[in-house]
Amino acid sequence: MVALTFYGGVDEIGGNKILLEDSGTKIFLDFGMGFTRRGKFFEEFLMPRSANGMGDFLELGLLPDIAGVYREDLLEHAGKKAQEPDIAGVVLSHAHADHANYISFLHKDIPIYCGETCKYILEAVDEQSQRTIENEIMNYRKRPVYKCDYKTPPTRRTFHTFRTGKTITIDSLEIEPIHVDHSVPGAYGFIVHTSEGSIVYTGDLRSHGIHAEMTDEFVTKAEEAKPVAMITEGTRIDTKNTGESEQQVYEASKKEIAACNSMTFVDFNFKDVDRFTTFYRIAEALGKTLVISFKHACFLERYHRDKKLMVPDSRDDKIMLLKPKRLTGTYINEDYSDYYIKKRLNYPNIITAEDVKKFPNRYMIVLNFWYLNMLVDLQPKHGVYIHSLSEPFNEEMEISYERMRNWLNHFGLRFVQSHCSGHINGEDLKAMVVRIKPQTLYPIHTEKPHLFNTLEPDIVPVKEGAVYTV
Ligand SMILES: [Zn+2]
Repeated sequence: MVALTFYGGVDEIGGNKILLEDSGTKIFLDFGMGFTRRGKFFEEFLMPRSANGMGDFLELGLLPDIAGVYREDLLEHAGKKAQEPDIAGVVLSHAHADHANYISFLHKDIPIYCGETCKYILEAVDEQSQRTIENEIMNYRKRPVYKCDYKTPPTRRTFHTFRTGKTITIDSLEIEPIHVDHSVPGAYGFIVHTSEGSIVYTGDLRSHGIHAEMTDEFVTKAEEAKPVAMITEGTRIDTKNTGESEQQVYEASKKEIAACNSMTFVDFNFKDVDRFTTFYRIAEALGKTLVISFKHACFLERYHRDKKLMVPDSRDDKIMLLKPKRLTGTYINEDYSDYYIKKRLNYPNIITAEDVKKFPNRYMIVLNFWYLNMLVDLQPKHGVYIHSLSEPFNEEMEISYERMRNWLNHFGLRFVQSHCSGHINGEDLKAMVVRIKPQTLYPIHTEKPHLFNTLEPDIVPVKEGAVYTV
């Protein structure tokens, strides 16, 4: 018997946690953080308490209360009994938090299977993030942390990496990972060969990106597998094909930056290597130098290892690293937040805000929202700010957006929106389902699963925690 249980990503965008059981073998497809659900209870200064182990998470339904899954220290800390793990592995589709971050809570003996590049990205995130209970994917410190001995290295998880063409075997299950195009490199869809036939899982994908051919390869393989079931993302099921593309982002942004003879700023998600390449190419074409932060350097160095991505090293002379004005000096060891900066202070391509101010039109500065205060050091005059991220889609984001606009207005920066989505549009998505032709379709990672109802397969209106027999 093959069974599917969805513990996240149900009527919400992200937070995927799909339990797949086949004759005694249990695996999870993704184990992500549900942002919407978390946002219902928490905000910046109202946070889940690590001092309660995983108690706050279980109480509020941010994690399912199931046996044989979680870290012993966190269970005990929440006053629960520790258990032996009962899960043979987590198959991770890509390195976005809504698919990966709650791996942080899993028992150390549950291995993680992910793409090679996906692991590089998780390492980059790990290197430059302050440790919290919700981002201990690569390794974790045993709680309670006051009993923690900082000389002992953190507990590392076991990772098995793959590339397209490789097959993953977990007990009786054979899983084929196939690359897909998404707004992060190292993203995969999967074909799981079970005792009842093939089950296709899309992860997150799109067909309008630079590497649309990868998604197409996935769809072809999925179609050939004649799947009994398909689990699909449906983030943008309510949209049409508008012809958006990365090339459009390039053209539109380049035009704006070329017309500006002062400082240029861009904000985009550094996990999106295609977007990095877009702005790197624009800088090159306009004879400017791209200025990034030390956090970005952590990512760039990992991307550089994947020769297929063709990105420069962070020490390349076409890239500059912007030195923060003041370091807090708390980099005693790798657990401290500034260590990743200290490690790189000897690079040849470090630049200060003073240097940038002297020749404002020579530089394109990648400036993320949380670092808008650097504008005080940079003192731009009449520059342009390219917002290459999605527009706000909830109240909290609206408030941040308003703050960003206040910063830009204060420094007289002109705002330009230039972005294309990481997710497939509804029209292309429906065509994809028609091509793959599964017997049954489980729409997840969407707030509008009912919009799949015009399609031919049996559409399962997924309920959280319900067990579906395939
Ligand atoms: Zn997602």
